[in-house]
Amino acid sequence: MTTKFSFTLKATDGKARLGVIDTPRGQIRTPAFMPVGTAATVKAMMPESVAATGADILLGNTYHLMLRPTAERIDRLGGLHKFMNWQKPILTDSGGFQVMSLSGLRKLTEEGVTFKSHVDGSKHHLSPERSMEIQRLLGSDIVMCFDECPALPADRDRIAESMRLSMRWAERSREAFGDRPGHALFGIQQGGLEQDLREESAEALKVIGFEGYAIGGLAVGEGQEAMFDCLDYAPDMLPVDKPRYLMGVGKPDDIVGAVKRGVDMMDCVLPSRSGRTGQVFTRHGVLNIKNARHQDDPRPLDEQCGCPACRNYSRAYLHHVFRSHEIISSMLLTWHNLHYFQDLMQGMRDAIAEGRFDAWEATFHAQRAEGDIAPL
Ligand SMILES: [Zn+2]
Repeated sequence: MTTKFSFTLKATDGKARLGVIDTPRGQIRTPAFMPVGTAATVKAMMPESVAATGADILLGNTYHLMLRPTAERIDRLGGLHKFMNWQKPILTDSGGFQVMSLSGLRKLTEEGVTFKSHVDGSKHHLSPERSMEIQRLLGSDIVMCFDECPALPADRDRIAESMRLSMRWAERSREAFGDRPGHALFGIQQGGLEQDLREESAEALKVIGFEGYAIGGLAVGEGQEAMFDCLDYAPDMLPVDKPRYLMGVGKPDDIVGAVKRGVDMMDCVLPSRSGRTGQVFTRHGVLNIKNARHQDDPRPLDEQCGCPACRNYSRAYLHHVFRSHEIISSMLLTWHNLHYFQDLMQGMRDAIAEGRFDAWEATFHAQRAEGDIAPL
C-alpha cells in the first residue's frame, strides 16, 4: 500500500474524467460520491454497511466534531477513523461553511471567526490555523482549507472581497498544514458566478499549490442552470492532474451534470437525509414511500437494485415501517439511497472507461422521464 497521496487520471470522455486517488488508507475511485458522516456517523448506517454500498470515502464535519465530542477528545481516543470504526479515507470540511451559516451568532475578522455553539451557546474561535489543527487531531486524510462562502445572490463587491479573504486564508491554511506525507490539503475556489473572479481565485490557489482543488460557493441557492453555467468553465481553470471536488452537490441530475463538466468528487447529505424522510431515489426518479399507493405493492423499490432493502423487502413493508416510525425504515431507506448514489457513480465510471458517457447520460435522463414504474 502506498504511503503517499496521489491522483491518476485514467481516461476522459468529453470533459468527464475517470481516475483514482491513492492514499495510505486505500483507493478512491473517481468520479466519487462521499456520504456525509456529520457527527462521526452516517445516520442510520453501520460503517460496514456504508462500505457495502460502494463508498470509498466519507465526509466528516469539523464544526460539529469540534463542538461535540471535541477534536482533542477524538485525538486522545485514537483519531476519527478508530473512534467511528471507519478505516477507509475521510475528508473533513474546514468548519467555515457551517460557521458562516450561523448568521447573527458570529463575528468575522481578517484573523478568523468567533461564534457561539448551537449546542450550548459557548463561545468558540475558528481560523485557518485552528481549522488545520482540528483536522489534524481528527486524523483526516483530505483536509479542506478554511474559507468564507457568501450565500447567493450576493453583490459582486461582496463576492470579490470574500473570495480574496479566502485566498489569504488558503495561504495561511497551507502554511499551518505543514508537511504531512500521505495527507492532502485541498484549496477551494470561490468567486460566486463571476467568471473573472473564479479565474483570479484559481490562479491564486495554483500559485500556493495544493494536492487537490475544490469548487466552493455553489449549490447555495443559485439553481441548477446557474450552477451548470459556472461549471462550464470553473473546473477547466483547475489543474488537470489534480482531483476536483464540487462541495455539497447534490441531486442525482446535479451529480451527472457536474461529472459531465469535469468534476471528480462530490458530497451531499441528500441520500441519507431523504432516507429518513421517506424520499427514495430510483432510476425512475424520486418516490415517496409514505404515499398510500405503496401499501399493497409487493414489488421492491427498484427491481434492478441489489441493496438489502430491494432484495428482501416490498414497497408495502417499507411503507408500513415508515408509517409506523420504525427505526428499520430509516436504516433500509438510507441504505437503498446510498446504494443508488454509488451505483450511479459506478455507472458513470464504466461509461467513461468505455467512451460512452453521452449514451449513458441519455439513458439516465430517459429513465427518469418515464417516471416511476406504473402502479399496480
Ligand atoms: Zn435498493
